[in-house]
Amino acid sequence: MGKPTGFLEFERQEEQYESATARVLHYREFTRSLSDEATVTQGARCMDCGIPFCNNACPVNNVIPDWNDLVYKGDWQTALAVLHSTNNFPEFTGRVCPAPCEAACTLGIHAAPVGIRSIERALVEKGWQEGWIKPCPPAAKSGKKVAVVGSGPAGLAAAQQLARAGHSVTVFEKSSRIGGLLGFGIPDFKLEKSVIDRRIEQLKAEGVAFKTQILVGAANVPEQVNTDAVEQISADALKSAFDAVILAVGSEVPRDLTVPGRDLQGVLTALEFLIPQNKEVQQGLTNPVNVRGQHVVVIGGGDTGADCVGISYRQGAASVTQLELMPQPPEQEDKALTWPYWPLKLRTSSSHKEGKTRREFSVATKAFADDGKGRVKAIQAVRVRWDAGKMSEIAGSEFELPCDAAFLAMGFLHPCADVLEAFGVQKDPRGNAQTDEEGERAYATNVPGVFAAGDARRGQSLVVWAIREGRQCARAVDAFLRESSALPR
Ligand SMILES: Cc1cc2nc3c(=O)[nH]c(=O)nc-3n(C[C@H](O)[C@H](O)[C@H](O)COP(=O)(O)OP(=O)(O)OC[C@H]3O[C@@H](n4cnc5c(N)ncnc54)[C@H](O)[C@@H]3O)c2cc1C
Ligand code: SF4
Repeated sequence: MGKPTGFLEFERQEEQYESATARVLHYREFTRSLSDEATVTQGARCMDCGIPFCNNACPVNNVIPDWNDLVYKGDWQTALAVLHSTNNFPEFTGRVCPAPCEAACTLGIHAAPVGIRSIERALVEKGWQEGWIKPCPPAAKSGKKVAVVGSGPAGLAAAQQLARAGHSVTVFEKSSRIGGLLGFGIPDFKLEKSVIDRRIEQLKAEGVAFKTQILVGAANVPEQVNTDAVEQISADALKSAFDAVILAVGSEVPRDLTVPGRDLQGVLTALEFLIPQNKEVQQGLTNPVNVRGQHVVVIGGGDTGADCVGISYRQGAASVTQLELMPQPPEQEDKALTWPYWPLKLRTSSSHKEGKTRREFSVATKAFADDGKGRVKAIQAVRVRWDAGKMSEIAGSEFELPCDAAFLAMGFLHPCADVLEAFGVQKDPRGNAQTDEEGERAYATNVPGVFAAGDARRGQSLVVWAIREGRQCARAVDAFLRESSALPR
């Protein structure tokens, strides 16, 4: 364990944030990893409580008490090896994971939980700084070829595991950069793209080939979905050129709001705002959507909505309001009721604190009002009441908000149907690729040799779940190619 009395002696220490007034002037990351000394002290807070609920709550089952102990004892390199044994990309999760592990920390029952995510980040960053993270090419090649469609965290984790198992892996991506939503969805201020690129270099050195701007198997991409493809390759061509195919194509179709005025100028889905902004920051291509001096309304909570808030402040919006259909959760969870599970509570992101964000709960959007020239000028909304899961409008509670730009951040429904259909892959009732999650046919679709992982399979989720799915799918593919697999789950 860490220091036996560590949890009594040391307070939880958070990562340092640049002030809100300074950080809205740029798009770079604004949190700093813990120092070595602080990381050691934070590792010392782990009680080694006996039943590591944190390890169970972490979707990749990171062996958290072990690396806490190793960090406390100063054995950083072994700690890093333990971390990498369950998580290919701790530098991604160490930045953007909501850390369900911390909600499950036993110390958290009566005190501030161990700062697991910040230890994870500091540990992997030390690994990069010290040059401990090196390519791990396979000792022998299998002679088998695998195509991975989609370069998000699920595709990348699968590609790395399969390359290390000796297979020749090619990743196909329709965007102009590798990383999926890590690259063009999540803003740089949460995850700087150099963090992705150094990991890609490792994958390349391990033998993974990347082909960008290639659209696989789908003739049509809906208007709201980003593609930079300049070439297409058919599903049949891919199936005949490779021994196995993994569809890690994400969940790209956004949930829409079909109310009057939806087609007005200035009403966009969140990614129609965020992706061009990421391209501006990363590639110097001007974002056609600029909200400087405008009243912005973000419809929908969650990470995507918060990212729209942060970008709006950086562009210089006059005001930012966020509307949420669901009621406001409590500020503090009831630990006795929720521990060790993920609690329902009000989550305020760093973006919300970058200005005077007005947050309204239990509000339904009824219509977007026209300025007479085809552009949105206001949102008409109504307050709602929730009773036993049923929503009803409150009579007389209608109100209007000034709105020059509205961003719909209400989640994603399923992958683009065309790509699944091109491969003949059966869909589940939600429109995702249908597979088992456990057992002999885990991650295998109905089409022999075609597998699915990540948001494309489980529905819109988190980076850490995508990494888990990529790893587990790689094991299933490895077993398919050579009848058993030594890859970890
Ligand atoms: C704005 C935003 C912010 C988020 N913030 C967080 C966060 O802070 N923390 C967190 O844990 N999660 C966050 N998420 C969720 C997280 O990003 C996703 O759950 C995760 O990226 C899913 O990984 P994936 O590999 O399954 O798919 P994706 O990351 O979506 O990658 C799929 C890739 O497949 C490519 N593709 C699709 N179809 C084709 C085709 N036919 N041919 C070639 N390529 C194709 C796409 O271009 C894309 O690059 C956020 C999501 C969004 C939208
Ligand atoms: S990946 Fe997420 S849940 Fe797992 S240890 Fe890291 S922060 Fe916690």
